[in-house]
Amino acid sequence: MEMLINGKADAGNGSAWIEVINPATGELVERVPAGSKDDVNAAVESADLAFGAWSEKTMRERGLLLGRAAELVRRDHKQLAELLTREQGKPIREAIDEVRGCANILEYYASIAGKPAGEAVSLGKAGDCLVTRVPLGVCGAIIPWNMPVIIMGWKVGPALLSGNTLVLKPASTAPLTNLKIAGLFSEAGLPAGVLNVVTGSGEIAGEALVQHKRVKKISFTGNGITGRRIRELTGNRLAALTLELGGSDPMIVMADADVKKAVEGAIRGRFYNAGQVCTAVKRLYLHEKIAEEFMRELTTKVEGLKVGNGLVPGTDMGPLNSPAQRDRIATVVHEITANDEGKILTGGCPVPGKEYERGNFYKPTLVGDVPPDAALLKNEIFGPVLPVMTFPDLATAIAEANRSLYGLGASVWTRDLATVKEFFTHVHAGIVWVNRHLTLPPEVPFGGTEESGIGRENGFHAIDSYTQTKTLFLGW
Ligand code: NDP
Repeated sequence: MEMLINGKADAGNGSAWIEVINPATGELVERVPAGSKDDVNAAVESADLAFGAWSEKTMRERGLLLGRAAELVRRDHKQLAELLTREQGKPIREAIDEVRGCANILEYYASIAGKPAGEAVSLGKAGDCLVTRVPLGVCGAIIPWNMPVIIMGWKVGPALLSGNTLVLKPASTAPLTNLKIAGLFSEAGLPAGVLNVVTGSGEIAGEALVQHKRVKKISFTGNGITGRRIRELTGNRLAALTLELGGSDPMIVMADADVKKAVEGAIRGRFYNAGQVCTAVKRLYLHEKIAEEFMRELTTKVEGLKVGNGLVPGTDMGPLNSPAQRDRIATVVHEITANDEGKILTGGCPVPGKEYERGNFYKPTLVGDVPPDAALLKNEIFGPVLPVMTFPDLATAIAEANRSLYGLGASVWTRDLATVKEFFTHVHAGIVWVNRHLTLPPEVPFGGTEESGIGRENGFHAIDSYTQTKTLFLGW
């Protein structure tokens, strides 16, 4: 597989390659070029050259192209989903959801073409002002490996609709589906240079993109440490930044909740994509009155989850994306026991058996008896480990929920409107769900507070973040 620069495949300037390994089998899926600084420069130059003509098209023309690309993503969704499972590990039905979700995002942006409007301001005798929104220029997107196809949609849709051109750097462990989708944009008729994908390491290709003087904005999703490094690197040249840095979402189940529905919500919320989701349920708080019943049901269901190769129909949970991610989770679990910070209720080890030996499989894990100041409640646990705590009343639950430094999502499971109001008002989060968790439709803004990052993706908010105002002052 090659990089896509200027709408054409390019083998890269360097001779180095990155091997993309199937996380379920340890087999080589494909190799991609380890892009160099020169490759990034070539991609930015190509995006810069394409910017003039692309930004002069009407938003409706750009929207039509996004719509055509979405059609092709839908046409090829089975092959794309299979490739995604082979490089990322998730069960095939989750991969199909993700690919269709990407098409849905592109269709959403196609459907709002022409709607983001400017303002007209009357200043009486002094004149009238027309406030327009103009694109920023060449933008950079840096993508993680957990949901690479959805996150590509979140960045490409609004950036291109607004008239920017884009250089995208995928994650080194899951770049292949991103490259295929970029190829579909070319097939849809996107002019050369509008969307460029450069594969390569974060340290070389990623940092070259972040530091390039012609790149006006970086949109990054990933680790907080990387996010801070990117902020440092862009700081001096005042590039715009969107940083989506993960979360430690609490799920609060009140005594009046529908327990069966909430158990399903907790399982999907934590074990979807093997727990590698920024808005996954990372801390589960149960009201004391329903805790016993809830835990009985939850434990049985978690122990029944079928872990295996995502390509095998009926698999509920695939492997972790890389050996490094599996080892991170193993360390977290080891430290829980070593530091007396909880009791493993089920799971807590890699999946035994010959067929699992070459993959990065880890058992779905529940942890009880967790003290309020335990490390696993503060840090983002990016894998299938769910700490469960109990609480006596809503005020305590909110106080515990707000102990984390993150503030991405949070959910409350209840039938009582007053509880919803109280929770929504006081919990630190960018999105608050009631009786569900995880759903992020493209129509509504997404992003968090504090350690979860800065800026918003999705909806008209994303259009704002890829444009700036330009005012015409008419002095009559
Ligand atoms: P990273 O933040 O390192 O990776 C995300 C993207 O950033 C990848 O494309 C990566 O490239 C790139 N990158 C890495 N270093 C730099 C750099 N210095 N400059 C520019 N780009 C860079 O995440 P990890 O893969 O290391 O995951 C570690 C942890 O991060 C997870 O356990 C989880 O806690 C968190 N995470 C959160 C995500 C979220 O959705 N919020 C998503 C992914 C991770 P490359 O792949 O080549 O390293």
